Amino acid sequence: DAYLGAIEQANPALNAYVTVTPDQASAMAKASDEKLAKGEGGALEGIPLGVKDLFGTEGVHTQAASHILDGFKPRYESTVTANLWADGAVMLGKLNMDEFAMGSSNETSHYGPVINPWRAKGSNKQLVPGGSSGGSAAAVAGFLCAGATATDTGGSIRQPAAFTGTVGIKPTYGRCSRWGIVAYASSLDQAGPIARDVRDAAILLKSMASVDDKDTTSVDLPVPDYEAALGRSVKGMKVGIPKEYRVDGMAREIEDLWQKGIAWLKDAGAEIVEVSLPHTRYALPTYYIISPAEASSNLARYDGVRYGLRAPGKDIVEMYENTRAAGFGKEVKRRVMIGTYVLSAGYYDAYYIRAQKVRTLIKKDFDDVFSAGVDVILTPATPSAAFGIADQEMTADPVKMYLNDVFTVTVNMAGLPGIAVPAGLDGNGLPLGLQLIGKPFEEETLFQTAHVIE
Ligand code: GLN
Repeated sequence: DAYLGAIEQANPALNAYVTVTPDQASAMAKASDEKLAKGEGGALEGIPLGVKDLFGTEGVHTQAASHILDGFKPRYESTVTANLWADGAVMLGKLNMDEFAMGSSNETSHYGPVINPWRAKGSNKQLVPGGSSGGSAAAVAGFLCAGATATDTGGSIRQPAAFTGTVGIKPTYGRCSRWGIVAYASSLDQAGPIARDVRDAAILLKSMASVDDKDTTSVDLPVPDYEAALGRSVKGMKVGIPKEYRVDGMAREIEDLWQKGIAWLKDAGAEIVEVSLPHTRYALPTYYIISPAEASSNLARYDGVRYGLRAPGKDIVEMYENTRAAGFGKEVKRRVMIGTYVLSAGYYDAYYIRAQKVRTLIKKDFDDVFSAGVDVILTPATPSAAFGIADQEMTADPVKMYLNDVFTVTVNMAGLPGIAVPAGLDGNGLPLGLQLIGKPFEEETLFQTAHVIE
């Protein structure tokens, strides 16, 4: 009731929730109360959570913040959310996001932008919460849920977490099932939590992760008790600092933040080593070939026949065209066009195949660093703090917006786990985050190290 009240009060200003489900919430909470009264219940019994609009929720509006999915109510539940409900969590509603998870500021949503609950010192200017999981991050930071589900294809969990002073982890590709989540770029997409602190993130991920017959890329490995990793010493741990992440024009305060993080880990007994990830500068350009290629294929299914919106036309082809023209926003159309282009005959080898080869090299950079004995890599999470809503520079130039993901996309390209952890405030009092990158399926090391930083 307290959370539903808070949503009623604050959501009109934040626009974090696109659907609130008070009836489900009350029924689930009541069931939890009964279990708890009998001394039963799961790890998340009665904990109220928000769900990114990308997760299919049975009988509950799921629109991926797109006009083209108007009115779509799945007849299935995503595996990740089903896992959470099985552990006793309570659903408060669906959270706003960039349309089909394409964006870094939550401004491509059909439902309008999400507003970051943070303000710069002495200013009333509205800031973006980051994206694409902007609703998840704003709802957690604004106390409109205890934790939230999110997804990350190129940084969509970690960048919004950094912009809102919350913790977000993108686990290893395959750790969580993608079944029932609206697909953006299937070889990069992963689900993960956004939470108030490292402990909450550890508890939530434990519940979300599982092998799943319905997603053959999910991995059959035991899911460790991540919470148990908290409080373990980092003494003797080898922390890599990649020199290629010192990008041109990096803000002074981001550099200072990075140095502070290095000092904290050193003081805690970790050994700091400089490492090289030579293909880093190709990560963003290859990401913006591979992800639109996969997106253009995944989004082909929205044709006015099977889901949501249908715009009339004199024949079926015109109906397809009118539906897609009316249903997709500008950024989604841009990605579909790029994706179709790089997959077309004549360009496939020059762009798509080439990008896949570079992706292998990016992955190999990390393999080399980890096999040389490095346990975890420390970088900034984002190149800046949260920027303003409708920032002229960002919205006028999509490439500038894409640069927000310069520190996060490599992790998706290599399939590795990455966590963003709040590490202090900038000169204007806005939160900044550091990122830790780990070996495949070693999320425990990330929680352990992030707990030292937070
Ligand atoms: N901002 C990146 C993009 O627009 C990443 C989004 C994501 O991780 N879903 O593709």
